[in-house]
Parts: sequence; structure tokens; C-alpha cells
Amino acid sequence: MTSASTKLPFQAEVAQLLHLVTHSLYSNKEIFLRELISNASDACDKLRFEAINDSGLYEDAPNLEVRVSFDKAARTLTIADNGIGLSKQEAIDNLGTIAKSGTKDFMSKLSGDQKADAQLIGQFGVGFYSGFIVADKITVESRRAGMVAGEGVRWVSGGAGDFEVESIDRPQRGTSVTLHLREDAEDYLNAWKLKQVIGKYSDHISLPILMEKEEWKEGENDQPGDMVKTGEWEPVNKASALWTRAKKDITPEQYSEFYKTISHDYEAPLAWSHNRVEGSTEYTQLLFIPSKAPMDLWNRDKSAGLKLYVKRVFIMDDAEALLPSYLRFVKGVIDSADLPLNVSRELLQESRDVKAIREGSTKRVLSMLEDLANKAAAATAEPAAPAADKPASDEVTDVVDKKEESESNSEDAGKYAKFYAEFGAVLKEGLGEDHGNRDRIAKLLRFASSTTDTVSVGLADYKARMKEGQDAIYYITADTLAAAKNSPQLELFKKKGIEVLLMTDRVDEWALSYLHEFDGTPLQSVAKGAVDLGSLQDEDEKKAAEAAAETFKPVLERLKEALKDKAEDVRVTTRLVDSPACLVVKDGGMSTQLARMLKQAGQPAPDLKPVLEVNAEHALVKKLETSAHFDDLANILFDQALLAEGGLPQDPAAYVRRVNALLI
Ligand code: ADP
Repeated sequence: MTSASTKLPFQAEVAQLLHLVTHSLYSNKEIFLRELISNASDACDKLRFEAINDSGLYEDAPNLEVRVSFDKAARTLTIADNGIGLSKQEAIDNLGTIAKSGTKDFMSKLSGDQKADAQLIGQFGVGFYSGFIVADKITVESRRAGMVAGEGVRWVSGGAGDFEVESIDRPQRGTSVTLHLREDAEDYLNAWKLKQVIGKYSDHISLPILMEKEEWKEGENDQPGDMVKTGEWEPVNKASALWTRAKKDITPEQYSEFYKTISHDYEAPLAWSHNRVEGSTEYTQLLFIPSKAPMDLWNRDKSAGLKLYVKRVFIMDDAEALLPSYLRFVKGVIDSADLPLNVSRELLQESRDVKAIREGSTKRVLSMLEDLANKAAAATAEPAAPAADKPASDEVTDVVDKKEESESNSEDAGKYAKFYAEFGAVLKEGLGEDHGNRDRIAKLLRFASSTTDTVSVGLADYKARMKEGQDAIYYITADTLAAAKNSPQLELFKKKGIEVLLMTDRVDEWALSYLHEFDGTPLQSVAKGAVDLGSLQDEDEKKAAEAAAETFKPVLERLKEALKDKAEDVRVTTRLVDSPACLVVKDGGMSTQLARMLKQAGQPAPDLKPVLEVNAEHALVKKLETSAHFDDLANILFDQALLAEGGLPQDPAAYVRRVNALLI
């Protein structure tokens, strides 16, 4: 039964994306084939999965495959699969909209600069729409497994604003995508060319990709000869899932292409690790660390990157139970030998096998990162840095190929910095999330510091160059690097040449609350509690400070009274050199910066009263004693201290009035 076709508009984002696809991705045309074959392969995976509970879905075609064919005269190229297929509604929904989270966000990042946009599009993954790079019209015919022949669908679009759908008769299950090639894409009407591209991008696809065999036929009556189809189909890929092959048989390019297929990333991965794990639970892991963060990295609900297979049968995408959330940037495949085929997401959460896989994979990722970090250290330091900690669990044994411990490329020195710039903030979440690996995670962290501008200082580096007598790792949190660097709280540390770590990621404050010490040395915020440099402060300095505090006492009492609504306490400090005053919070209290952040995010935050610390040596503070405007000056001191750390006075207008009054 067929019916009239219906014309429907694309979702606005799709129309915009299509425009970009055809205009920006031109330099890398051939990837369309990878995307369409990957979709066909996914469709077969889905069928196999649904058929676990309903073998009738195989109908009379149990051998899943992809067929690639072309018609020179009609100038069409067709990629057909006998996978799960699409119902009419699914065709409308899936081929007319983009369901991915972060689509809007992604679109807003596009600049109009074709080169930059092409990169972004690559990261986002255009999938099906990439067909329009080479085609000016695409016809999709499909029937969903389990539906009757009359419930087939035809979807046609020229890739502009709309598409048409109609119901068709389609006896065979699955989807065929026919590309009506543009004139300048005619080279894809060539078996040799197609085989070459398939070999490059899709060799690792686990199901057979078939093409019709051709034979040379001499021309008759003085006509030139040509290749003619024989009606016999032959596989043109290896058709064994990449991760099931031995490491030594896989080239870096093949790993890289496999990564691109599963991640929809354009760029090669930074590193990968491929192992068969034996022990109480058996599985193969192939894990990749991307070079670039995806658009939805910050969406903790979505974006787990591992695909789960059981005995080579695809079970699910985004299996979040396989890795902790702070490693959600990792992409790859886990193929378990032990889990039941009908395992559900709920069951995964409780499975002991999954727990072992999760622990093993976490350790593997951490050691990949340690490896990158050590290579970076080895490149900058002499002598070479110590080797990476190996996974402690003896369940994780690499039996595939011991010699090639971690498979990765050679120019490694800059990779860790690259990784850290993209994913460092996510990794920090691990301090709170993964107590068992906290020490390993802490070693992987990098910060800027008062003596180093780049985010490159590890806690171990810091410790190694601590001053004689220094007994804490000092840090400060702030909204920006500039605010951190210029914070009054740093003045004494600068004067004494003590390095302070500068933390400006949003997660720092929260993450650091889980890390009280590193390798036996406590971490101490320079903005919390009274400054205590311990033995770094000499006795004379301490005595002088105490004496100053004593003579300053009456002024201090007046200050406390004047600021009693704003400040928890007022005290004299030695931490300031050039500034008159600064704010600190009580030891163990929430920093004013975090409280401010929570409020901005609309979350409940305690109304903290900070402690005002004043520099008794500062001219402005000295002036207090004799000032006729004591109250104004006191309030100005407080508000300025707030401004200096990126806050705002409670009553900005009053602040301005007070300053102006003094200026006049
Ligand atoms: P993605 O594959 O990243 O989801 P695509 O744009 O490539 O994005 O495809 C959109 C959706 O269309 C897929 O998620 C799938 O539901 C459907 N689809 C695409 N190709 C096929 C196919 N060959 N068989 C069945 N469904 C398909």
C-alpha cells in the first residue's frame, strides 16, 4: 500500500547543519562513506540486540550485512543494510531532527569561518547528513524489522529546508540509502575507489561489507572494454571486530580510524589502551582518550563513552556503569565474556562482573594518563622521571601482548598538557568521586602557581621545591588567574618567595575539600584561617607583629564595633605587604568565592561573615586612629577588600558615596 507523500520541514538546526556540511566539509568528502556504513553497522547491532528476545525479527535473513553498490548511468551510490530499519515515524524523527544534547550550544559556537567550523562539525558528528557532502539528493528506503512489507517508508530530500516521506511496499527488512551524486563526486562510481575508502575507514566493522564482483569485458565492434558486474557479491572488509584481533595485527591508523567511527571525532585520539583481561572476570577493553572535549562534557547525565558488547554482540551505547563519571570523556569498547546477553542497565549497576570491569578500566585509564604525564615530565626534566605506577590490581593482566604495554604514538611530550587543558577539570571530580584512587588522581593534577603561569605544576613538583621549614602546600582559589595572582593574600608569600598554587577552575574548591593532604603534607588555603607560616617566619618578625597588634588594640576594638554587621572578626595580620586589608574565612569554613558561586547558581549558600584582616603597617590603616571619618574609612577598607577578591560591596552606592566624600 502506498500513499501520497508528505512534505515536512527539517528542524531549524538540521537545516543550518546541512548548509554547513555541504559548504565546510568539502575538503574531506570521503568520510560520508564511513558515517553511512557506521550507521548501517549500528542498525545491524540493534537488530541483533532486539533479536535476543525475539528471534523472529531475523525473518528469513539471519546473516547481517551491508551492501555497497553503484549505478554509473543513474549516477547513484547505495549503501544498504538488513539491520533494524526505520518505521515511518522513526524516519521522520531521526532523519529530520538532531536528538543529540547540546545541539543548540553547538550551533551557537559556529563562527562562519569554514575551516574552524569544519573542525567543530567533526567533533559534533554529522552522521547521516554527511551524505549531502557528495549528494544533491538522498533517497532512503526502509522497513523496520517485525513490521509488514506494506509498512515501508521512503524518505527523500535535497538537503535544503525540507524532506518528503511516503509509505511504500518493501519486502526486505532494513535500510537502503541512495545518494544521487553531485557531478564532482563521480569518482565514487568506481569499485576500486570505494574499496579503498572502505578499507581505510571501515575495515574493523564487525559485519561483512559486500560489493558486487566485476569482470573486465572486451568491447565489441571497436567499442572500448569496461568492467561489468557479475551478480556475485564479495566481502571487501576484514569483518572482524577490531578489538578481537591481536594487537600486533592492528596498525595505529586502524586504531585511530576505529576511534573516529565510535566517537564521531575528527581528530585522532591522544592515546589508547587495548587489553584482554583475564581473572575472576574476563573481558576485552579498548579505551581511548580523545584529543578534544565533546560539546556535552559538562552534562553529567549523558556522555558516558563506552560501548558494551557481550561475546561480540552489541548490547548498549553509553554504558555509564562501566566507568566512573569523572572519566566520562573516555571512549571505547568493553566486550565481556561473562555477562548475560539480556543484561539491562539496571542489572549492570548491581553486577559484580561490572564492578570488576569498572575498577579494571578505571585503573587502566589512570595508568594511561600517568604514562602521558611521565612522558611529558621526561621531556622537560633531567634525569628521566620515574616510571608510571602500574595498576595495583592483579586481576588486570595484559595478556594480549606484554611488550607493547600501552599502545600509543611517539611525539608524546605535549600530550598531557593537551589532555589536561581539555579534561583536567573533569578529572578533578574524581577526588570526590573515587576515594580508592584519590592519591593517583591527586598526582595527575596540574595547577598554575604564583611562580609559573602555565597550568603545569603538579603537587609532587610543588613539594619537591618547597622551602626549608615549609610544612604545607599553599593554594588560593579565585575566579580568574589574574584575581588569584594579584590577591592581597599572596603578598607575604611573594615576599618570602613561597610558591602558592593558583586554582581557578569552578570545581577546585569542591574538589580540594576532599584532598586534605598530599603525600603527607597538608594542603592549606591561604585565604582560610590566620596565616601561619610556621618556622618560615622568623622570631623577630613574630615579636614585631605581636607588639604592633598590642598597640593597635584600641583601633581594632573600634573597627570591630564599626563593622559588626559585616565582619565576623577584625584582626591584625602579617600576611599583607602592600595592601591595607583582606578578607579571610574561618578555618574549615566555606570560602567567600564558593559561597558567591553557589548564590549565582541559585543554590543555598550560608551567609558567611568573613574575617577582616588589616595591615597595621599600612598608611591607610595608620590613618584610622586620627581620622575624623573613622566609620567611613572602616567601611571602605572592608568593601575594598571584598572588591580585591572579585566580590561586590553589599551596597555599592554607599561605597561610592564614602569614597567620594573622602576624595573631596
Ligand atoms: P547518530 O548515528 O549519531 O545518531 P545520524 O544522523 O547518523 O546520527 O543518524 C540519526 C539516526 O537515524 C540514528 O540514530 C538512527 O536512529 C537513524 N538511522 C540512520 N541510519 C540508519 C540505518 N541505516 N538504519 C536504521 N536507522 C538509521
